[in-house]
Amino acid sequence: MSNPPVVTVLFSGLPVVADSFLPGISTVALVQTNDRRMIFDTGPYAYRPILQGRLRKLGIDPAKIDTVVLSHVHWDTAANADLFPSATVLMHEKELAYADAVGDHDSETPAYIGRALRQLKLKTISAETTLCEDVRIIELPGHTPGSIGLLTGDELIAGDAVSCAGDAAAQEVRYLPSRSPLANQSLKKALDLASIIHPGHDRAIRVGPPVTYLDDYAIRIRFFTDPIGPDEEVRVGSFTPKSFASWPGD
Ligand SMILES: [Zn+2]
Repeated sequence: MSNPPVVTVLFSGLPVVADSFLPGISTVALVQTNDRRMIFDTGPYAYRPILQGRLRKLGIDPAKIDTVVLSHVHWDTAANADLFPSATVLMHEKELAYADAVGDHDSETPAYIGRALRQLKLKTISAETTLCEDVRIIELPGHTPGSIGLLTGDELIAGDAVSCAGDAAAQEVRYLPSRSPLANQSLKKALDLASIIHPGHDRAIRVGPPVTYLDDYAIRIRFFTDPIGPDEEVRVGSFTPKSFASWPGD
């Protein structure tokens, strides 16, 4: 008798924009079944030591991850796929073709990413694919040509096909606008498929209606902007006080 898959969010995305850089705070999830350990998306390179630390805390050896599913090849989702030496890295064949011929309009896809991923145990899929009981890759094109999500039961890890709760509530792609009309179709497909969604840049939502968050959120950012004055700190969400002394944290 197999237990249902368990989704553990390693990084919870956050929809945020800044005026001089791309924050790229994206969702990374661990999916465990009786005999499989899968990672969905790997975040930007800046996640690297924290991602390793969080896996260590969970007692997960990166070498025991058997599958990495990449929703798409943007800089903030695929950069740590190499942390899992035994894993088969799964992506859609349309996404790999896109990575190999990135358009001038796209500044979010590193031109080398296709070549880099080919150094790993890369495997492409060409259609929706069941990975194991109750774990299925879903095609959600539009944000990029080969965007995919992972459906476990009624829970969807959506990548940027559903980037944030606001888009889900509006049933329209707004936060990360796309040139493709498929983006809105995939957003609606995701909302129809799942009752719980982990957006690419937001914490988990219950689809509703109304769309509601499942968890609290807490983030602090400290700005060292004055060499002799006090630092400035921005706090969002509810959290217990902790020190920045161990930066960058867990
Ligand atoms: Zn993206």
